[in-house]
Amino acid sequence: MYELGHFIDGKRVAGTSGRVSNIFNPATGEVQGTVALASDADLAAAVESAKAAQPKWAATNPQRRARVFMKFVQLLNDNMNELAEMLSREHGKTIDDAKGDIVRGLEVCEFVIGIPHLQKSEFTEGAGPGIDMYSIRQPVGIGAGITPFNFPGMIPMWMFAPAIACGNAFILKPSERDPSVPIRLAELMIEAGLPAGILNVVNGDKGAVDAILTHPDIAAVSFVGSTPIARYVYGTAAMNGKRAQCFGGAKNHMIIMPDADLDQAANALIGAGYGSAGERCMAISVAVPVGEETANRLIDKLVPMVESLRIGPYTDEKADMGPVVTKEAEQRIRSLIDSGIEQGAKLVVDGRDFKLQGYENGHFIGGCLFDDVTPDMDIYKTEIFGPVLSVVRARNYEEALSLPMKHEYGNGVAIYTRDGDAARDFASRINIGMVGVNVPIPVPLAYHSFGGWKSSSFGDLNQHGTDSIKFWTRTKTITSRWPSGIKDGAEFSIPTMR
Ligand code: NAD
Repeated sequence: MYELGHFIDGKRVAGTSGRVSNIFNPATGEVQGTVALASDADLAAAVESAKAAQPKWAATNPQRRARVFMKFVQLLNDNMNELAEMLSREHGKTIDDAKGDIVRGLEVCEFVIGIPHLQKSEFTEGAGPGIDMYSIRQPVGIGAGITPFNFPGMIPMWMFAPAIACGNAFILKPSERDPSVPIRLAELMIEAGLPAGILNVVNGDKGAVDAILTHPDIAAVSFVGSTPIARYVYGTAAMNGKRAQCFGGAKNHMIIMPDADLDQAANALIGAGYGSAGERCMAISVAVPVGEETANRLIDKLVPMVESLRIGPYTDEKADMGPVVTKEAEQRIRSLIDSGIEQGAKLVVDGRDFKLQGYENGHFIGGCLFDDVTPDMDIYKTEIFGPVLSVVRARNYEEALSLPMKHEYGNGVAIYTRDGDAARDFASRINIGMVGVNVPIPVPLAYHSFGGWKSSSFGDLNQHGTDSIKFWTRTKTITSRWPSGIKDGAEFSIPTMR
C-alpha cells in the first residue's frame, strides 16, 4: 500500500483535506494505494507557488527553457522502464503500450525544444511614417490541465510541455485512477532543472476541478476526458473568464471499401479496436464494411482473430490487452453489451465469460464482436470505451459516409481503400477532426495538432503543434514611433494609411 499526496512548490506534500480515493490494481481488483483529494486550500497553495515562480520563468530566455526539456527527454528515456511499470500497474495496459503512452508525450517535449523558434514574433518595419509594428506572444500566466485516466503519461505532457515552454506556470489535476506517473513526471522536471512552483500536481476529484475553474489567478484551462465533463468544464471556465480547450469522447468509424485489402483492414481493426482494451479516444469502435460481400468476408476474418486475443495482466509480456480500469467501468461495459443483445444486434464473439486463473477479481472482459448493429442502438450511439467492436453494414459508399457524418462525435475516422478518388472524396467531405487513409488510429504527431470536431471538442485550438503555442500565449501588438517621426500638433481624426 502507498499513499500519494500532491506535488507543490517542487516537493511531494500530503495535502490537508483528509479525503482520499482508492487506487486499484485493475488486474487483481485489489486496492494498492490511496491518493489525496485536494481541498481548496491545497489548490490555493499550488497557485501561490506558481504565482511566485512564474515571472522569473517567463523572463528566462527561451533557449534556457528549451534546455530543461532536452534534459527531461533524456530523463524520460533513462526512466522508461520504471515509468511504464508504474503506469501499467494502475491503468492495466500492457508494458509495451505504456511505453507508447510515455513516448507519445516525450515527443511533445521534443517538439517544444524548438520554443525559441516557435515563440518568435512578427515585425513590420515602416507600417506608417516612422512607425514600426510588432506582435509578441507572451505566456498567459498560470495554466491548468485536467486529464483522463486512459493516457496518464501522454496527455499531461501534451499540456504541460507547451504551457511551460512558453513561460507559464502550470497546475496539473490528473485522473485519480492512475496518479503516480504524473507526480513522477513533475519530479523528473525538477531534476531536469525546472524551478520549483512552475509545475504543480494537485490530485483530486470534482472538488479540485471546481477550485481550478473558479480560481481568479488561473488564466487558461485545458481538459481531456468524457464529453459531459468537457462541456461542463468549457462552460464553467468561460463563465469565469478563462480561456479553455476541452476535448471529449468519441465513436470512431472505419469504412472498409470493397476494394480494400481485407487482411490489412482486419489487422487494423483488431489493433485499433481491442488495443488498450478499447480504452482509447482514438480506438475504432465501429467497422462499416461497404456491400454484403465485403461484410461477410470481413466478419469471417475478424471472428477467429477476436476469439484468439491474448488477454492478461501487464506482467504477461505476450498479452495483447489487459483489463479495463475499474469495476464500475467493467459493469458499464457489460450492461451496454447486454443492451446490444436486447436491441437486436448479433453478438458473434461473446467475451463476457472470459476468466483468468489467479485473477478472478480483475476487471477483465474478453473481446466482443457485434454484427448487424444499427444506428438506433445504444451500443452505436454511446461511447463504450471497452473491448467491443460493432459492425454496421452499409449498402454503398454514400450510406457508409453518412454514418460518421451524422454521429454525435467527431474525433477520428478511417477509410480502407485502394481507390485514391474515394479516399480523397472521403477526406474532403467528412466532418471529423482526424482522418486516416489506410491508417486506423490517425493520431497526429507532436508537430501537427490533435483535436476532434462536434461533441468531441469544445474550444477552437487543438492540443500540441503550433496550436498549442497559440493556446498557451496571448498576443500583444506594439505600435512604435520615435520622436524624429512625430509631426508637431495634435491629431483628432483616427489615423489611416490612405
Ligand atoms: P472523465 O471525464 O471521467 O474524467 C476526466 C477528468 O475529469 C478527471 O481528471 C476527473 O477527475 C475529472 N472529473 C470527473 N468527473 C468530474 C466532474 N463531475 N466534475 C469535474 N471534473 C470531473 O474521463 P475518464 O473516464 O478519465 O477518461 C475517459 C474519457 O476521456 C473517454 O470519454 C475518452 O474518449 C476521453 N478522452 C478523450 C480524448 C480526446 O483527446 N478527445 C483523449 C483521451 C480520453
